[in-house]
Amino acid sequence: MPASEHDDIPNGPLPVLAVIGRPNVGKSTLVNRIIGRREAVVEDVPGVTRDRVAYEATWNGRTFTVVDTGGWDPDARGLAERIAAQAEIAVQVADAVLFVVDATIGITDSDEAVVKILRAAGKPVVLAANKVDDQRTEAEAASLWNLGLGEPFPVSALHGRGSGDMLDAILGVLPDAPPEDFDAPEGPRRVAIVGKPNVGKSSLLNRLAGEERVVVDDASGTTVDPVDELVELGGGLWTFIDTAGIRRRVRDASGHEYYASLRTSAAIERAEVAVMIIDASQPLTEQDTRIISTVAETGRALVIAFNKWDQVDEERRYYLDREIERELVQVQWAPRINIAALTGWHVDRLVRALDSALDGWETRVPTGHLNAFLGRLVAEHPHPVRGGKQPKILFGTQASISPPTFVLFTSGKVEDPYLRFIERRLREEFGFVGSPIHITQRVRE
Ligand code: GDP
Ligand code: GDP
Repeated sequence: MPASEHDDIPNGPLPVLAVIGRPNVGKSTLVNRIIGRREAVVEDVPGVTRDRVAYEATWNGRTFTVVDTGGWDPDARGLAERIAAQAEIAVQVADAVLFVVDATIGITDSDEAVVKILRAAGKPVVLAANKVDDQRTEAEAASLWNLGLGEPFPVSALHGRGSGDMLDAILGVLPDAPPEDFDAPEGPRRVAIVGKPNVGKSSLLNRLAGEERVVVDDASGTTVDPVDELVELGGGLWTFIDTAGIRRRVRDASGHEYYASLRTSAAIERAEVAVMIIDASQPLTEQDTRIISTVAETGRALVIAFNKWDQVDEERRYYLDREIERELVQVQWAPRINIAALTGWHVDRLVRALDSALDGWETRVPTGHLNAFLGRLVAEHPHPVRGGKQPKILFGTQASISPPTFVLFTSGKVEDPYLRFIERRLREEFGFVGSPIHITQRVRE
């Protein structure tokens, strides 16, 4: 069972196995057994601090990442809370969970709590009954059937007994490739046209869809909400969200703006990508930046269209560039197009911008790549030392796409400027055009 080192991380995405269980049940010993290393990271002290949490393991020709959640103590206080928090992290980052129980002790209340979390998440679980060093203890392992997790695998992490059968079971539940739900959703993409009043939303919609309200029934076998419109663009079908709100403008004065902003938020919520229309002939306003922030905070892909470009002369252009620099720094990643909805000028460029934003929104970085990248980044630009301590990134994983969301496992809290630095470098390395990125951290104290 050769354990490969950091430098030959494979290119493909590796499935992740999280090892969880109460302190002292033998998680670290078992992780060492799985990765096939002799020198123990284990010490006879519970909760001892270890420097790495993720390792690569190979069994029967298949390679996967093993994450030892042993040392995590994310904010939780009591033992039960800590174990539950571990389980939640494991569920978040792993494709499968190895749940380790000390067979000589049997089931405890915190074990039951973990089982609840695992069952609710529907993650595949392999149950290891550890410290079964000899035949005699095997009977005690059998009592772990009561956890309802299926067959307990009796193992001795210390001596290696039974670890082959357990590893076979692990391979049986680990996916070969990332699960299917990572794939792009079926059906037309959902687009919201947003922007403050009079920037040209309905003019653009009319350009794209024609003056007539287009069919909204199940043209392609898709059920569409009556306020949405199916529009054919660049050879593909797109669903434009809440076009009713754009076409039939609510004219009643009272609370108009309030309802308009509610509608905007709802449309963003239902969309995958938003086209933010800005009237380029007028100075950018707070209302513009507020809508843009809503898109980014909601985690949707974003394209910015500067409309009424026919009204933009050289002087205005000069000021607009300054306004963009000043007001739109936080969405520098969004594709920008200049258009004139009224004449149709450059409106055809919208599809390409939408496509690239959605690509960025659904970009997935394999765990191996991500950690190779993080390793380089941290080596070149370590986190500044604070009060004699240096926060460290131990392991990272992309928990989801749409939008790309990363979880960093750290020792010590990584500061916000450093997180922003990581975001910038992630974008340089992997793209993410048109998409916000979320980075969260799990701090081990
Ligand atoms: P963790 O806190 O869950 O990571 O547990 P460790 O791996 O640090 O192990 C805790 C203690 O249990 C150590 O003293 C280990 O040597 C011991 N231990 C681990 N696995 C076994 C085993 O299979 N049999 C026996 N007898 N002791 C074990
Ligand atoms: P909405 O409130 O955002 O839907 O904006 P409308 O589409 O109703 O447009 C508001 C006004 O801007 C109308 O008088 C449009 O004719 C005008 N308009 C829209 N697009 C353009 C454009 O590209 N150039 C110019 N010059 N005017 C435009």
